[in-house]
Amino acid sequence: MIPAGTAGAAGVPVPAGAGTGTPAAGSPRPVPVPDEQSAPFWAATARHMLTAARCARCRSLTIPPDQVCPHCDATDPEFVFEPVSGRGRIRSWTVVRQSFLPGFNAELPYLLVDVELDEQQELRMIGRLLDGPDSPVRLGTPVRVAFEDVADGVSIPAFVLADGQEDA
Ligand SMILES: [Zn+2]
Repeated sequence: MIPAGTAGAAGVPVPAGAGTGTPAAGSPRPVPVPDEQSAPFWAATARHMLTAARCARCRSLTIPPDQVCPHCDATDPEFVFEPVSGRGRIRSWTVVRQSFLPGFNAELPYLLVDVELDEQQELRMIGRLLDGPDSPVRLGTPVRVAFEDVADGVSIPAFVLADGQEDA
């Protein structure tokens, strides 16, 4: 899961608060390095739960949170992470065929989807679509969050097609 607008220059997703990811032992892929603000987000993803930050001033949700609320410009948003459904619809996508980070070579090619979550208009996340590069995606295709366990206690949000694959 990857917040919109933070796709790295190399075309690979940069998770919220990832900073300069470093390869984890046993995993060639870079892993997020939580900071104070993003730590609750990554603690939740480790439990396979997706959260978004709610502004205490305007009650809008944001992923990832910044120092200032992007909705009401509050400089003291006092963001609190709360669970979201992880359901949303594809609003854009791309097929990644060349990775500029060697850790992703084994995954190529893969689909990167830009998803608007059901909870709020323009609440967007970018992530891999785990169904494969030939998945039948189009504008509005419903997806739900899934998690890739990339290291011990580290899980990265991604998406899978939601149609007919509902969890009980
Ligand atoms: Zn706000």
